[in-house]
Amino acid sequence: MCKLLLIPVLLACASCNSTHQAPVSTITAHAILQDVSWLASDEMRGRHYRSNEARKAAKYIADKWKLAGFTPLPTKTSMYLPTGDARNAPNVGAMYQGEGDSFVVITAHYDHLKPRRSGIDRIYNGADDNASGTAALIAIAQALSKVKTPLQSSIVLIAFTGEEAGLVGSKHFASNSPFPLSKIKGLINLDMISRGEPNTIFLEGAPDAPRINMAIVRANKQIGLNIVRNEHPDWLYRSDQAPFLEKGVPAVFLSVEDHEDYHRVTDHVEKIIPELATKTTQLTFLTAIDLASGVP
Ligand SMILES: [Zn+2]
Repeated sequence: MCKLLLIPVLLACASCNSTHQAPVSTITAHAILQDVSWLASDEMRGRHYRSNEARKAAKYIADKWKLAGFTPLPTKTSMYLPTGDARNAPNVGAMYQGEGDSFVVITAHYDHLKPRRSGIDRIYNGADDNASGTAALIAIAQALSKVKTPLQSSIVLIAFTGEEAGLVGSKHFASNSPFPLSKIKGLINLDMISRGEPNTIFLEGAPDAPRINMAIVRANKQIGLNIVRNEHPDWLYRSDQAPFLEKGVPAVFLSVEDHEDYHRVTDHVEKIIPELATKTTQLTFLTAIDLASGVP
């Protein structure tokens, strides 16, 4: 999450549980741990949004999405989406094509912080913040590639750059979206999903996004997370859902509480709870399928 911005009809998806049972089980703790380990390794030097390592992370994400059969967003020929400043690593965006003209959007920032100047450990690995959310986007793409039933809506994945520098990537995307924001049925942002209580995730924004909330309720019957709702409404303005909420897009935020390693060099992969990240990723996947299967 970003420290700088602390400003204060529904159709049941009858087929979800059966048809999507197999794909959801392909989202595994092993795969998530592998991606978090790579993204949060010392070699990646914290993935600061103006570093070569951030560009390497962007390529890692795009390559995995390509392998999963994802395609660039409408009107785009590349998954790399520059943000108007050549110094910045790009946003990465791709989609799984649906039959209609609406979109379900899942987002997470992949950048973190630049190394500090002194100390034995100088690297802000950002395993929880936000290699965990980034790994979720990769796992969701891989699970979607195994969904055989056509979806009504396209599912869009966006890995944002520069969140830690003040929501740079998400602000740029929300103002330059290649598809109308009015066509978004729901947006789910993941930022820090792997620490704290082993089976607990916080959900913000649900009261103003009833359709997403209902889909989450249905999905969680299968996943069984302890979802804590509306505990921190201020969080809605400190991560990448904010620029979309400001433009009227229905959006929710899934995150854990700030912890002792938040924005410290000790946000290490050894400390994450892979099972929590996995269940949150599974919940997000099933919620997106539900939203994408309903009325346009
Ligand atoms: Zn974050």
